Amino acid sequence: MTISLNETPPITPPLWLLAEITYQCPLHCPYCSNPINMEETFNELPTEQWESVLTQAREMGAVQLGFSGGEPLLRKDLERLVAYARKLGFYTNLITSGIGMTEKRIAKLKAAGLDHIQLSFQAANAEANDLIGNKRHSFEQKMKIAKLVKKYDYPMVLNFCITAQNIHEIEEVMDLSTRLNADFVELATVQYYGWAYENRDHLLPTKDQLTQAERVINSYRDKQDGRGPKFIFVAPDYYEQRPKACMNGWGTTFLTVTPDGSALPCHSAKILPLTFPNVKQRSLHDIWHHDFSFNHFRGDSWMPSPCKTCDEKDKDFGGCRCQAYMLTGDMYKTDPVCSKSPDHHIMKSITDKAGTVGTGNLKYRQVERQIKVDVIDD
Ligand code: SF4
Ligand code: SF4
Repeated sequence: MTISLNETPPITPPLWLLAEITYQCPLHCPYCSNPINMEETFNELPTEQWESVLTQAREMGAVQLGFSGGEPLLRKDLERLVAYARKLGFYTNLITSGIGMTEKRIAKLKAAGLDHIQLSFQAANAEANDLIGNKRHSFEQKMKIAKLVKKYDYPMVLNFCITAQNIHEIEEVMDLSTRLNADFVELATVQYYGWAYENRDHLLPTKDQLTQAERVINSYRDKQDGRGPKFIFVAPDYYEQRPKACMNGWGTTFLTVTPDGSALPCHSAKILPLTFPNVKQRSLHDIWHHDFSFNHFRGDSWMPSPCKTCDEKDKDFGGCRCQAYMLTGDMYKTDPVCSKSPDHHIMKSITDKAGTVGTGNLKYRQVERQIKVDVIDD
């Protein structure tokens, strides 16, 4: 969808709701995009409040719903929320590491009407997978769940996070996906937010590694001859000349609600120096249409030079606000990924370091305390 920008754009409905129902997770991936400060983890919305969020989002026109986290399976009310969402008419997607899934649960989720499961792997073999997730036997569990996904007649959608540590094993990843009879496989190079940003210098592949990976992927695709999984390779934008059209434009399409009820135009926006509203205090409609933070980067009146007069501004909307903030300290600046940005040299100083840092000091994602959530277990 392309949106023509102007000073006061019409407000379109949020079509995609991302419900981050918990930040708790049994794994500890150093590339996790969850916030470093997971204060929300300790103050999760109860079941009825999530139901109200789903009702309001659907009334506003949302059609796609992602249950995410953290690990959404840690919420005992997941099946109830799925059933509720399905009854409202959402297309429901579960984004999961598979840890916490059992045959009994997958059967219950199927009965509740879950449409789609996206299963993530850390690597293509047990040793690397369990090391990256920092949990023993997690690979074994994922293999079991992958088979259950097929057994319960879901499309098999796998997600592999690609980093400097596993990019050389991309063919092994593709072989595993073929053996598992996957339908779609995302070979997604890490995007540098949250914990991944903290660990960026360790995780970022070199340009040569990316070129080699692309070569392997293309030759694998040629050999497939139209059969087997469809592989989608997502490269990091750090090496690009134009930024990504982040969130299809701020406050146009995507709405995220975090475990504590904060409403965000994108899942990492909380790092920005803006105050975001909470669904406990205000209706979603009020938030989406009238909140200062949601209106802040709509249209182009906020744009700096060179975006302001750029003939590509309706393609990428000036890039990612979080990336601009993380890399320059100023959320109003042009995303430095863009070669027209006066800060583009920052990208070179980062990519020049790729492959030189090693893995010694990787920070694994962790949460200090355990949660207490008022969920209904049925
Ligand atoms: S990236 Fe890893 S740690 Fe983060 S939510 Fe997913 S499985 Fe859990
Ligand atoms: S100058 Fe701004 S609008 Fe133009 S291409 Fe770069 S980021 Fe996009």
